[in-house]
Amino acid sequence: MEIRYDIEKNIIQVDSVEIDPQSLDKNFIGVCSNCNSDVSSLSYHAYEKGTIVAGKCSLCDTIFAIRYDTDWNWQGEEPITQFFDIKNCNDLKVLDGIDKKKLSTVFTPAETGAMYAKVRGEKYVRQYLYRARKKYADFEELFGININI
Ligand SMILES: [Zn+2]
Repeated sequence: MEIRYDIEKNIIQVDSVEIDPQSLDKNFIGVCSNCNSDVSSLSYHAYEKGTIVAGKCSLCDTIFAIRYDTDWNWQGEEPITQFFDIKNCNDLKVLDGIDKKKLSTVFTPAETGAMYAKVRGEKYVRQYLYRARKKYADFEELFGININI
């Protein structure tokens, strides 16, 4: 199970499926497995036959995904280590939707790599992204596609 979480919008993503929160109730839900401090809920999400609760430790800020069945029996938990924001997801969809030939017409492989790394939240070479950005207007003129990364 691959879980990502958007802290700002409280959207959880389980195996690439985004689940909006049902509730943003703040409740004490358990004890942090890292540091034994209180974990409080951030958001509740309906998942299959049950609920996933995103909870945050008050001391070490670790965020957990805790799974319950329909009777609120604990089914398991795991720390969430991957985060995303929706803007980046949309940028990735835009980028993935562009024909690679069109990209390579305007951008060098290094520039394209920097654009992908940026939207994926990975490390990228700023210089390459700056160079790519200077070409966005050209790209739009040629292909009518606006890139804003
Ligand atoms: Zn903790």
